[in-house]
Amino acid sequence: MTVEELDAWRALPAKQQPNWPDQGELAAVRDRLATLPPLVVAPEVRILTERLAAVARGEAFLLQGGDCAETFAANTANKIRDKVKTLLQMAIVLTYGASVPVVKVARIAGQYAKPRSADIEASTGLPSYRGDAVNDIAATARARRPDPGRMLEAYHASAVALNLIRAFATGGFSDLSKVHEWNKAFVRDSAAGRRYEVMATDIERALSFMAACGIDLERTPTLHGVELFTSHEALLLDYERALTRKEDATGSIYDLSAHLLWIGERTRDLDGAHVDLMSRIGNPLGCKVGPKASPDEVLALADRLNPDHVPGRLTLITRMGAGRIRDVLPAIVEKVNSAGHPVVWSCDPMHGNTRDINGVKTRHFDDVLDEVLGFFEVHRQLGTHPGGIHIELTGDNVTECLGGGERIGEADLAGRYETACDPRLNTGQALELAFLVAEMLQQ
Ligand code: PEP
Ligand code: MN
Repeated sequence: MTVEELDAWRALPAKQQPNWPDQGELAAVRDRLATLPPLVVAPEVRILTERLAAVARGEAFLLQGGDCAETFAANTANKIRDKVKTLLQMAIVLTYGASVPVVKVARIAGQYAKPRSADIEASTGLPSYRGDAVNDIAATARARRPDPGRMLEAYHASAVALNLIRAFATGGFSDLSKVHEWNKAFVRDSAAGRRYEVMATDIERALSFMAACGIDLERTPTLHGVELFTSHEALLLDYERALTRKEDATGSIYDLSAHLLWIGERTRDLDGAHVDLMSRIGNPLGCKVGPKASPDEVLALADRLNPDHVPGRLTLITRMGAGRIRDVLPAIVEKVNSAGHPVVWSCDPMHGNTRDINGVKTRHFDDVLDEVLGFFEVHRQLGTHPGGIHIELTGDNVTECLGGGERIGEADLAGRYETACDPRLNTGQALELAFLVAEMLQQ
């Protein structure tokens, strides 16, 4: 791949890019980013492709989750720790409950740019907030001015988060003997939290049993750490291009800002800049697929993003809405499947189920669950593998999504509504969903 080819996207229509006021400043940031070390390395990216290939074959399950929008202010040790704990809890529920290996991919360490439905926010008349990598959420003209320097800050914020995540993944925190400690006090008394405690005790008992049988648990590395991969939406093309690097040993090209990059629903145009740049990098890719996508369009995307049919290269993340998934998903799956594409099918039950309640964006847990159920029904009927879920969650006790075991109601939304963008499942709701998905996987 030549540099000219890698830069072909520059001549194509690029949706959702900020109106950077100062092109000189943008060029300087781009140059600086291009000199900085990559955040992840190529061998890790290839390992994720292998793991996802197992998902595509039906031998594993993909759990992808994290914030809708990370913020610099919330990039703290405790919040990162709690998000990782929530993902580890969900993963162990799925692994233990369904006896299936779980590939863990966090929306973290780089999820700093957001596509928006309008350039100007109706409620304030100000430019829309486009994520901390672009502007500030505060409702003033000054805060909302796109500042390319924020991409550098996003890079550094991602680096510090990754540093901690890597330590959590290997430094004892993720050891299976800590399975009880991942359960947070505020969840322990909920139905899902209690169910988790019972399961954690069972796991401990199973470990003691294996040790008593003479199995050397100490020397089984998978019991003492986890493989946790990072991902974000590849939205800001200047940022993604600056972190795209050629591996000297192989000549392969990867976007080393994260292990997996995904293309959003609003930027997946076949002739657009996002699809062009992503088609030229070697990372595993995700692509969101909404209810308006036709089967032909999705097949064309799969042909474009994975022309060589590499298993694990492409994850199609369907986000149809609970009311539509059973109608629109089958034709898409049949089309892509009969063309022989080894894709991972993942279900994002969040983005098709957003509602507005008196100006507050929310989602109901019942709709989230129903979309996942519909996803499983469709794949079971067609004989394809319901390969994973993609959700927005936090490690905090927020009140952003309605329903769930704690029965969060409309009047509760104002209590702890903290998201910078879309409403996230709180830890209890995320755990509850994991138990329900584990049951679906068992059937
Ligand atoms: C998101 O994942 O936060 C998002 C904007 O999703 P989509 O592109 O599916 O709307
Ligand atoms: Mn979102």
